[in-house]
Amino acid sequence: MRAGLAAGIAATLLLGTAAAAAVVPAQAEGESFVIATDTTFAPFEFRDPSTGDLVGIDMDLMNTIAEEEGFSVDIRSLGFQAALSAVQSGQADGVIAGMSITDERKEIFDFSEPYFESGVQMAVAANDDSITGYEDLAGETVVAKSGSEGLAEAEKLAEEYGFTVKALDQSATMYESVKNQSAVAVFDDYPVLAYGIDQGNGLKVVTEKIPGGEYGFAVAKGQNSELLAAFNDGLAKLKADGTYDEILNTYLGDSEAKSANGNIFELVGQSWPALSKGLWNTVSITVVSFVIALVLGFVFGFMKISSSRIVRGIATVYVSIFRGTPILVWAFLFYFGLPQLTGAPGNVFLAGVATLALNAGAYLTEIVRGGLQSVDPGQMEAARSLGLGWGRSMQRVVMPQAVKISMPSIINQLVITLKDSSLLLTIGFAELLYQAQQIYAANFRTTEMLIIVGVMYFIVITLLTWLANIVDKKVNK
Ligand code: GLN
Repeated sequence: MRAGLAAGIAATLLLGTAAAAAVVPAQAEGESFVIATDTTFAPFEFRDPSTGDLVGIDMDLMNTIAEEEGFSVDIRSLGFQAALSAVQSGQADGVIAGMSITDERKEIFDFSEPYFESGVQMAVAANDDSITGYEDLAGETVVAKSGSEGLAEAEKLAEEYGFTVKALDQSATMYESVKNQSAVAVFDDYPVLAYGIDQGNGLKVVTEKIPGGEYGFAVAKGQNSELLAAFNDGLAKLKADGTYDEILNTYLGDSEAKSANGNIFELVGQSWPALSKGLWNTVSITVVSFVIALVLGFVFGFMKISSSRIVRGIATVYVSIFRGTPILVWAFLFYFGLPQLTGAPGNVFLAGVATLALNAGAYLTEIVRGGLQSVDPGQMEAARSLGLGWGRSMQRVVMPQAVKISMPSIINQLVITLKDSSLLLTIGFAELLYQAQQIYAANFRTTEMLIIVGVMYFIVITLLTWLANIVDKKVNK
């Protein structure tokens, strides 16, 4: 390290600064990198249902290599396509997601040495005997993952065999759509299909795998070359000392009973660590966002009853923008768009808070305005004629009545905001529904997991409403 650095400095002095970047070899050691991955692509990346931790072949490789090479990683499970975009936009330094090395991708990414031999295969519902090959797909719909090689392969075959291809973001959703018959088949990587089938996901494979598709770790083209070099170096070491085989065996060996069995209560018990994390995230982002939304609502609510047309106009524009656009657009904009414009790294919690607070703030503005306007103007006049100033009259006479009138609508908005927070799973915020998705993606107990989180949301919302009503009674008696 030291010697390299000294040599680098000497070279810099000799060659001048223009060439410095190329001459001083950057080192990954001691650095910290953001690594993007798929949400679920078991056995390569998935959540351990009992701990909520990200595990799998890719995760173990990445963590072990980081340890071996002395750098640290912050792994973000974003979904496959989102992971690739994150690296392209510079929000992540590298991606490991069972990503196939292809010529098209080499235009945009630099790949490591391959670490796994894969290939796409087609699977159908286990009880479906009508589809035994591509020729049975005429007129049918198949699913594959957005941005994946499975999708590309399916699209290549679609015209010849006359079927429709639908792209979905998550493996679990793909398998579910085959089981509920909204699609007849799924195109996915064979080791992932094999693992899922082994776990009892209710599918079976019916075609030979399409050869090709080695997995590689990737960085944006021309970027993070030190990270790529360290990955290759670490991979070679793990292959040499047997760790690589050990990792593969952990997930692919058939000795392990992988399937999560047991009744729904045992399922709750197993999933509780991850679910409680999710619940905490849901509640905390709701509370933080709602407090900010209340401030926005009061500020803009007062602006709406201002005598100045300009001030009223500003508030009206705010409300119409956020009421007139879907929440998801803002979530994507704050998380993916803004960092691209500003160069600042995306922060999923802040993006989520901004999204929910601005949205709820718009609705609260109208609630506050309505509340203020529903107080009889005679109240203000009476207060003023008693000698109170406008501010005092507002604070002592009008506001208490307005708040009392608005309270049910404010509580309603709180409940809506809590439910809307589930939309943030699309930007990878680990709230309650996100955790459930991660779990059923690994154990395939989709219906039960959805019922469990449904009940959890219901309980939390009931408690919250009850609490808010108590506060309401205390404040507005
Ligand atoms: N190997 C496939 C690809 O690179 C799918 C990867 C994934 O779904 N995570 O396209």
